[in-house]
Formats: sequence, structure tokens, C-alpha cells
Amino acid sequence: MIPVAFDYRRPTSVEEAVQILSEHAGEARALAGGHSLIPLMKLRLSAPGVLVDIGRLGLSGIEDGNPIRVGATTTHAELAASAALASNAPVLSEAAAQIGDPQVRHRGTIGGSLAHADPAGDLPAAVVALDAEIVITGTSGERAVRAGDFFQDLFTVDLAEDELITAVRFAPAPASAYAKLPQRASHYALVGIAAALDVSGGTCQSARIAVTGIGSHSQRVPAVEEALAGRSLDDGTIAEAAELIADGIRDVNEDIHASADYRREMAKIFARRAIAAAAARA
Ligand SMILES: Cc1cc2nc3c(=O)[nH]c(=O)nc-3n(C[C@H](O)[C@H](O)[C@H](O)COP(=O)(O)OP(=O)(O)OC[C@H]3O[C@@H](n4cnc5c(N)ncnc54)[C@H](O)[C@@H]3O)c2cc1C
Repeated sequence: MIPVAFDYRRPTSVEEAVQILSEHAGEARALAGGHSLIPLMKLRLSAPGVLVDIGRLGLSGIEDGNPIRVGATTTHAELAASAALASNAPVLSEAAAQIGDPQVRHRGTIGGSLAHADPAGDLPAAVVALDAEIVITGTSGERAVRAGDFFQDLFTVDLAEDELITAVRFAPAPASAYAKLPQRASHYALVGIAAALDVSGGTCQSARIAVTGIGSHSQRVPAVEEALAGRSLDDGTIAEAAELIADGIRDVNEDIHASADYRREMAKIFARRAIAAAAARA
């Protein structure tokens, strides 16, 4: 289908971009990779009057360090190919590598994925497990929100109409991993599990475990984290903790792709895989 007519604006600075978003609040939308927004516009599920192209604001790139900083328009392919992320935050590069197909990965951006907040999106779970800060700029200045607070509900995030995500930053998490069961056609997660562990002397000091695909939004699962903390990560401990993965998830998703029971069972298996892979890196 053909979208409704819209104006196209191409600002050259973040300040100019948020000014345009503010002037057209309610009808303007940022355009990043276009791989979620354009399909919605073609289906006329979204009909913004003004598209603000944020592709030329200099927001792309990965800065290794502590914190690691990833610009909002960095593509999934760049995340997947990053040697720095593979060593220091493999949960993020692994999640990006499993998104869609090469075309989606070369156009889609981390900022777009987080702002869109698809309940089956991969990067939201990865940044929640990293306990990342989402850096946001609006007409009234810059602020940072913890990923766990940013994702609030189905397609609902802490982002005002005149605000842009400019970056994501997080402490290195070398003992981290992502495992997912993809829906065969789109590759969106039927279940996706992101794990980040802090292990010393063979004991798990703390764990951050986040899920996608099974609930309304990416979120941590405290029951699993508590079952891992203070334990040595042998197969039995990991399997026991993974059994709790759907605990506390309200209204497990059920749709044409999978029943709620199937998702619950698969989540246990993929939780075991993600935690074991993260533990092997500790
Ligand atoms: C065939 C197909 C398969 C896919 N498979 C997967 C998959 O397996 N896993 C997965 O996670 N995703 C998948 N996706 C979605 C893909 O990852 C998108 O790239 C992503 O969801 C949106 O990123 P984008 O840069 O394309 O954003 P856009 O489509 O440009 O924008 C999406 C939304 O975010 C807003 N936005 C964009 N950037 C910003 C910003 N910096 N600040 C504030 N708001 C912003 C836009 O206004 C819009 O509302 C798939 C998409 C397609 C078409």
C-alpha cells in the first residue's frame, strides 16, 4: 500500500531535529532505518505528517571504554560486526546478529529498535540485561533513563514527542550472552533471553536476566537472578534457575505463532542456553 502524503525534513543537528519534532508535536516522527516505521506507514497504521530524517546527525558509532557508548543510529550490522562488543558486551552483538535478515540489519538502528519497543524485539532485552542508560535529548535538554524503566508496556516507552534517543551507554559485561528462538519468517523472537553475569572465584555475585517475546515488553526476571546469585554456576544450578524464567511475567503472549504454554517451555530452554553461554565467558 501507499502511505498518506507527508513532509520530509532532513536536519543536520540534534538541536534542529528536536526543534522540528517540537514544532510539529503529535504529527512528526523521527525516521531512522525506516524498517519498522515505513511498513506501518504503508499499512496506514501510522500516518505522520512530517518525517524527520535523523540519518545525518552524526549519531552513529561505538566508543569502547567504561562506559561503552553506542550512538543511536548505529545499525544492527555494525553492532554485530563490532570486535569491541564481541569482547566486552557480547549479549548486544549476538542479539543484533540474530535480527531479521541482512537488509534489515544494514538499515535498522539501535535507537529505532529501542524507541519502537516491539514486544518481540531483540535489542530491548539486551540493553535491559546490560542495565544500560538510554540517553535522550529534547528541547529542554538531555536526560538519561535506565533501560529497565524506559520500557513500560506494549510499544510504550519513556520518550516524549519532542525527544530523540541519541545514545545508549553501559558498563562492560564480558560474561553475557543472548539466545533466542526466532519466528521462522520474520526472525522476531518467539522467546529471547539476555543474560549478564558478574562471576568471581567461581561464584555468581549477581545476574541480570531479561526476556523478550513472552511478555508485553522486555523486562528482568528477579526470580531467576536471585536463584543464580551466590551460587556456583554448574549445570544443575543453571537448569533450576531457568525453570523460573516465566515467573512474574504477566499475560504470557499467545498468538498465531505460538501458544503461551509453548513460549513458557521454550523460555526455560533458551534461558538455560543464554545463562550457560554467559557463564562460559566468565
Ligand atoms: C522483515 C523484518 C524483519 C525484522 N526482524 C526483526 C527481528 O528479528 N528482531 C528485531 O528486533 N527487529 C526486527 N525487525 C525490526 C528492525 O529491527 C527495525 O530496524 C527496528 O525495529 C527499528 O529500527 P529503525 O532504525 O528501522 O527505526 P524506524 O523504523 O526508522 O523507526 C521506528 C520508530 O522509532 C522512532 N525512532 C527511530 N529512531 C529514533 C530515535 N533515535 N529517537 C527517538 N525515536 C526514534 C521512529 O519515529 C519510529 O516511531 C524487523 C523488521 C523487518 C522489516
